[in-house]
Amino acid sequence: MSNSEEARLSVLRQLNLLDTPPSESFDRITRLASLLFDLPIAAVSLTDRDRQWFKSRVGVDHREIPRFKACCGDVADNSSVLVINDLLASHYHDSHLAESGIRFYAGAPLVTHDGHTLGAMCVLGTEPRQVTDQERGILKDLAAMVMAQVDLQHAVGRVEPSTGLPNYLSFVEDLNDLARDLPDSQRYVLGTELVDLEQINALQRVMGPAYLDALSQTAARRIRKALGEQAKIYHVGPCQFAHLETGDRADILVRAVNLRKSLLEVTVNGSAPFMLRPVVGVAPVQLGRTQPDAVLRLAHTACRDARDNETGAGFYSRSSDNRYQRRFSLISDFQEALQSEDQLHLAYQPRVDMTSGRCVSAEALIRWQHPTVGNVSPAEFIPLVENTTMARDLTDWVMRNAIRQAAAWYHQGLQLRVSLNIAAANLEEGDFTERLLGYLGSEGLPLRAVELELTESGLISNGQAARRQLEELMARGVKIAIDDFGTGYSSLAYLQTIPAHVVKIDRSFITGLNQHQRSQTLVSAMIAMAHELGYSVVAEGVETEEAKQVLHSLGCDEIQGYLIARPFTSTEFTRWFMAPINTVTARPSSRQSL
Ligand code: C2E
Ligand code: MG
Ligand code: MG
Repeated sequence: MSNSEEARLSVLRQLNLLDTPPSESFDRITRLASLLFDLPIAAVSLTDRDRQWFKSRVGVDHREIPRFKACCGDVADNSSVLVINDLLASHYHDSHLAESGIRFYAGAPLVTHDGHTLGAMCVLGTEPRQVTDQERGILKDLAAMVMAQVDLQHAVGRVEPSTGLPNYLSFVEDLNDLARDLPDSQRYVLGTELVDLEQINALQRVMGPAYLDALSQTAARRIRKALGEQAKIYHVGPCQFAHLETGDRADILVRAVNLRKSLLEVTVNGSAPFMLRPVVGVAPVQLGRTQPDAVLRLAHTACRDARDNETGAGFYSRSSDNRYQRRFSLISDFQEALQSEDQLHLAYQPRVDMTSGRCVSAEALIRWQHPTVGNVSPAEFIPLVENTTMARDLTDWVMRNAIRQAAAWYHQGLQLRVSLNIAAANLEEGDFTERLLGYLGSEGLPLRAVELELTESGLISNGQAARRQLEELMARGVKIAIDDFGTGYSSLAYLQTIPAHVVKIDRSFITGLNQHQRSQTLVSAMIAMAHELGYSVVAEGVETEEAKQVLHSLGCDEIQGYLIARPFTSTEFTRWFMAPINTVTARPSSRQSL
């Protein structure tokens, strides 16, 4: 088969017309053709590799006929009007059409803008017939109407209505075409994102969908101005654009920076440039080596890095992509972990009273044994999960399991409080208190047997409803601890406004306590002030005897850390707790750890 026939077939395929259901917009033209020619049969006939397929037809039952000796196939081959006054007296006398009783045929070619003939607009009759010049003209006009319809249908779904720019699908098609033409050559895809995509929903809620459209329109005009009339700009997603560039990396980066600059002052209807933080991310592509949608993902990754690193524009980086991919897969796998029997469990780390040396409580710390990745630290997955709707399920899982364990200890007679780490978002759940009380009730455990740990920043950023819930919990006798104290953004003066009983000084202040005078001064001030305000003080991350001595001299109430014990399984914890001596001084730091 010739190259031009291959190209023609490829265009036909791309238009996605073959084997599609009938459509009224084409049928209307076919009916008109039959009427104008006063003939029983009319069709829009597309020439496939070895068949004529009818997109629209009047007076024929079948949807396709073989291409061999089909008049329409010859119209496609020659790209000109073909009239056969009498099939029986012509080269077509033994064709499929003639055998089915057709005597007359007239067809006009269906030609695309770039000169490919897709098939024919044809009229057929069962009697021999002549065609006037005027009728030839009409047939050509009808063929042009069919092509206008093809254009229209093709444009729908290929163009973003708000800006009139080619969309994501066009981008994919064009990049595929380019890869066929110039395989292995180097291009850069520049992705432009007007706002943080994660905030698009919020923005739409606050400002309305029309705002996003207006924003995209204004930005599209700016991008056009910055890149020039010749550039092909794609509108690939909400507030997301892309275009291709060639050149060396340094030049491309300059262009990316300039493009971003041109978008900095974009406003809609004179409003403030609300939440508008445009970034441009660049992904290098070897044509044909990467799928177009993967290319857009790389450009998006580069945009996200440019946003996170506050550079505004930058190249794709594989290492940060790997980190992002890992985060993404951890988030998606966590749902399964919550449902599984064996991926999650709780470890318990003792907290001891400095005066008596006795263990007074155990902090429940979640552990995740991922089936393929292995152990994932809560420091890695908790912040990810806390930003999703799974925060509720996570805390529910912890409450259920920790309270069950606390009840087992309680009923065994162990004088022990169990601390649970709670995400700030949990307090925003209207039924949080109810659920906690439900779990305690069903295990027959008094409220004072549990303590909730919330981080300082979490406590401060909470709204009124969360605070009311916190106050209610305290009023009912649940202890509240401020975790990681000193690492939040709040000033110490804020402390007096937070409802809580316990302050847990963050590990970062305790490490090096015996070496740095500065740390001692800080910790001493924290302890004094917390006591002044009526809190009891716990030091986290106590690893050395020296640190313990310093804390003792500063009046710290309790300590927790590897010096006492690493987090245990519940069984190990019970054994440790029941051992004849479990005081600060007597416990070696080398207990078996998790
Ligand atoms: P956190 O609540 O401040 O817990 C203390 C962390 O310090 C734990 O890390 C603990 O293993 C570690 N640690 C304790 N003593 C020492 C020490 O002497 N030296 C050092 N270097 N580290 C010590 P882990 O278990 O990896 O947990 C990290 C964080 O993840 C926790 O910090 C907490 O914020 C969060 N987390 C853990 N479990 C849960 C949970 O069930 N729910 C929620 N929402 N967060 C949790
Ligand atoms: Mg904690
Ligand atoms: Mg902490």
